[in-house]
Amino acid sequence: MNYYDIKNPNQKVSLKEAVLKSISAESGLYMPDYIPALPGSFFANLSNLNLQEIAFEVSNAMLGEDIPKEALKQIVNEAISFPIPLNRLDENLFVLELFHGPTLAFKDVGARFMAGLFQYFLRNENREVVILVATSGDTGSAVANAFYNSKGVKVVILYPSGKVSELQEKQLTTMGGNITALEVEGNFDDCQRMVKQAFADAELNQKLNLTSANSINFARLFPQSFFYFNAIAQLGKVDKPVVISVPSGNFGNLTSGLIAKKMGLPVHRFIAATNRNHVVPDYLKSGEYQPQQTHHTITNAMDVGNPSNFPRMQEIYQKQQLAMAADIKGYWYTDDQTRSAMVDLQTTYSYQSDPHGAVAYAGLKESGLLNDSIGIFLETAHPAKFPEEVEKSTAVEVQIPDTLKEIMKLEKNAIKIPNEYNFLLQYLNKMV
Ligand SMILES: *Cc1c(COP(=O)(O)O)cnc(C)c1O
Repeated sequence: MNYYDIKNPNQKVSLKEAVLKSISAESGLYMPDYIPALPGSFFANLSNLNLQEIAFEVSNAMLGEDIPKEALKQIVNEAISFPIPLNRLDENLFVLELFHGPTLAFKDVGARFMAGLFQYFLRNENREVVILVATSGDTGSAVANAFYNSKGVKVVILYPSGKVSELQEKQLTTMGGNITALEVEGNFDDCQRMVKQAFADAELNQKLNLTSANSINFARLFPQSFFYFNAIAQLGKVDKPVVISVPSGNFGNLTSGLIAKKMGLPVHRFIAATNRNHVVPDYLKSGEYQPQQTHHTITNAMDVGNPSNFPRMQEIYQKQQLAMAADIKGYWYTDDQTRSAMVDLQTTYSYQSDPHGAVAYAGLKESGLLNDSIGIFLETAHPAKFPEEVEKSTAVEVQIPDTLKEIMKLEKNAIKIPNEYNFLLQYLNKMV
């Protein structure tokens, strides 16, 4: 399978290059030449397969030409090593819990699979790659955890000083080993700007083999399709159409769902649920795509004014807004509406959700599709990652898992730098 650069479709690379580089020299995202459909026999047998078996079949269809079955099986089994349960809340209402991985957010799925592919592709090489990542919280901890002790990989994480929760900071700064945390005296946009500048620095790239671990990397995006298949498998035989609501920021998660649908998964509709950063819901209504400045909200993992995976969504629908809008409905919510949705889930179904999952629930409810469809909303983080907001809204105490309690006891280890590129460059230059 070849992977083409969306910005320059004649430029094709191998899976290995698409994965190790993340983006093309012109900053274009990679897409597979075609999205393979899975055979009818697979779907007929789907509800008899467990998560790892599904992940293997789906990844073998997409990556099987490039990775031998045995190696792929090992990557899948090591990466997808925690449950992703579908819980029923009401006759037609389900929640897919994506937060049972080591850092308690859905990004573990993609980050762990991506780490497995890096290990595979670097196994016989003595070059070292440096993963540079700016984070407002969840991405950094998932990537740090997934790549900890990975041979041939160093991870450098930039996070905004004082702007991530104490728990998130501990998750970022206590790994040690091949993981370094840079505490930037500035905000998340500063971190992103500095990282972008490093990627644009050709000399530095050459020297360090710089790469990214955001959902712009196909290796992080694609494995997220596994849990859509797994949700339908757990649902079993149903005689109603299925609607899946996805709380979205960079739209990597939703794009993975669209890929699953293209591979043949029977999902009738998706709901793109966002916070005040609603450029995609606007596009679905108007056909106009207008990137915006980022607004800060209580669902901070979705604070994205110009979602990086939007070009991939456009590729899937060949830039036909009407076709995209037929498959995806968009809704967006203010912080107060998000809080109300958390309260609604708690009082109606005794279900404690995090703010991101609550946005997805709100979209599902507003769509009116729950009357004659099966609705599934994705719960992308454990409520314990956002305890203040959840407790303030629902007045129900959040249970903190033991793994998080242990992390809180560890000592923070970060290097503080000013919010200027020169200081990042100095640090990176010292690494080689
Ligand atoms: C990253 C994240 C999202 C948004 O996912 P995208 O793939 O960027 O759309 C939603 N919820 C949580 C908890 C996240 O960490």
